[in-house]
Amino acid sequence: MEIALSNIKLASRVTSIRVSPSTAAAQKVRDLQAEGRRILNLTVGEPDFDTPDHIKAAAIRAMEGGETKYTSVNGTVALRKAIQHDFATRLGIDCELNEICVGGGAKQVLFVALMATVEPGDEVIVPAPYWVSYPDMVIANGGTPVVVPCGEEVGFKLTPEVLEAAITANTRWVILNSPSNPTGAAYSADELRALGQVLLRHPHVMVLCDEIYDRIWFADFEPCSILTVLPELKPQALVVNGVSKSYAMTGWRIGYGVGPVALIDAINKLQSQMSSCPSSISQAAAAAALTSDQHSVEEAVAVYRQRRDRAHALINAIPGLSCRLPDGAFYLYPSCAGLIGKKTPDGRTIRNDLDFSLYLLEAAGVASVHGGAYGLEPYFRISTATSMEIIDAACAAIARACEALD
Ligand code: PMP
Repeated sequence: MEIALSNIKLASRVTSIRVSPSTAAAQKVRDLQAEGRRILNLTVGEPDFDTPDHIKAAAIRAMEGGETKYTSVNGTVALRKAIQHDFATRLGIDCELNEICVGGGAKQVLFVALMATVEPGDEVIVPAPYWVSYPDMVIANGGTPVVVPCGEEVGFKLTPEVLEAAITANTRWVILNSPSNPTGAAYSADELRALGQVLLRHPHVMVLCDEIYDRIWFADFEPCSILTVLPELKPQALVVNGVSKSYAMTGWRIGYGVGPVALIDAINKLQSQMSSCPSSISQAAAAAALTSDQHSVEEAVAVYRQRRDRAHALINAIPGLSCRLPDGAFYLYPSCAGLIGKKTPDGRTIRNDLDFSLYLLEAAGVASVHGGAYGLEPYFRISTATSMEIIDAACAAIARACEALD
């Protein structure tokens, strides 16, 4: 018997959220490619490198050694020890093993953390531009995202004044993402300390620090976490990281968080009913990634840096576009303000950044994601997780398309 799909009543937690705009943009690229069009794809949100061989070898060893069963819900001791060591040595953050949770990617840890804490009426401060998933994760868990614009004039970063003004009695969390997707902007130690001091005055507000890109770092100041500079904020912070971006392990699905025991226990309790545990094999691979030689990360970062420098120079040479130099991650977030209001050769007006990125797709064959998707216009995000050849060709095509605007 055929089931009519339209009869299925979906929960509002599904109908109230969007499919991730970057996933939608990537699908559009695949559709156009299937039609035979050559598309220079700058929408990619994952490393173009393969997982290093020594990490794959650790996974194979785990499989052959029988590590193919459920693990404890909060992750293997080996992986949590590796995370503990990494936080202590790289960030100066001391934590116990029961202050660490492990999930199926940083995304799952973030989602479950919100699920564990957010109820209807609760507010979550989301500085914009934001990673596309934050507002929808909040909505899916019944909360209200409070989007606070953080413009280019403040380096796309939250300031203590704006944070203070956004906090209400209903605020549960503020989300900080450093380095940021989509801007690449990273917070310095002083900036984090100033934000943390505001939070210490509001103990009902917690900070969710998404540091998934913190090894892909180019800035001349050292990467640091809010807990590095303010350890006393520990009862109010969940620091989230993972192996996806740094070790080119997006498909392995391992992310983790360090936070207060009560929160970690709640996350684990939900996860025990959701997935029982993350993949045992991926956990072994992640432990190897964190504890072994970091050469592959350094090599990848050197390549990302060259690409960032090239893309940044090429984009800034295009009249009408301008772009800040990212501190980390593998994205650029150029402004197209100088081209809003211009006309395409076939007479259409570029009204906003969505029009602009669609024009780039049609006229230049370049796929990007429009700034509206990240909550701050008029910008567009390009990813440098692709070859230098594609970056060069895409920037040349963007330059030609921009020049054709009148
Ligand atoms: N946070 C940010 C800012 C991201 O860009 C991504 C991946 N796009 C994630 C979290 C999720 O990473 P993971 O693969 O570990 O779920």
